[in-house]
Amino acid sequence: MRFDLLTLFPAIFDGYLTQSLLDKAIQKGLVDIQRHNLREWAQDNPHRQVDDKPFGGGPGMLIQVQTTVEAVEAVEAMDSRPTRRIMLTPQGKRLDQRLAEELAVCPRLLILCGRYEGFDHRVNDILEPDEISIGDFVLNGGEVAAMVMIDSIVRLLPGVLGDEQSSWDDSFSRGNRMLEFPQYTRPRSYRGHDVPEVLLSGDHKRIAAWREEQIRTRTAARRNDLLEP
Ligand code: SAH
Repeated sequence: MRFDLLTLFPAIFDGYLTQSLLDKAIQKGLVDIQRHNLREWAQDNPHRQVDDKPFGGGPGMLIQVQTTVEAVEAVEAMDSRPTRRIMLTPQGKRLDQRLAEELAVCPRLLILCGRYEGFDHRVNDILEPDEISIGDFVLNGGEVAAMVMIDSIVRLLPGVLGDEQSSWDDSFSRGNRMLEFPQYTRPRSYRGHDVPEVLLSGDHKRIAAWREEQIRTRTAARRNDLLEP
């Protein structure tokens, strides 16, 4: 799967792309993440400026339409795979596990990371990206949101997690769309807190029944909304 990130701050991704699961996924050739600096498509001016003041007044700056449209067209032409265009914006559809699963089957995603007050609205009219938000709060830029989105997608790609089953059983996931059961590892006892006896029983039927019950009671207590049809 290929990701093309369009950003004014490509270096924000440095640490993220070189650690742990993502680094391994890149090394294995399961994901290809390309960063592109929007400034490369700045219209001719000495400072390679890409933003300007909003018409009608108001605080802040907007990323300009020409630069953005030309950058997207140029980046799309770099690879023949079809692209799904995404703009990160607090006004978009909220990212959730279902959306991550839907995006994980795309061969290629192009992600527009905004800054300042965001993009000139004509970017949306011309490019018609899917607008995606990571939650009802406002960030300084789309880069952190892009990392959140990529993180949720990459772990769903075959071969990235050691065990394919784990992304089915995770909270919100395809297995049951509920919260996961609690889990324990060694030691069996710590400061008077014991691992539930059933998990040590070796009785797989009982363990499965206990986990099923935990899933339901937890979800009902914490996230009743997930149980509604
Ligand atoms: N003026 C805009 C917010 C701009 S925030 C508004 O009120 O809607 C600057 C940039 O940060 C945005 O262009 C977007 O790319 C990113 N961003 C901020 N909050 C976000 C969120 N909740 N989800 C995804 N991207 C977000």
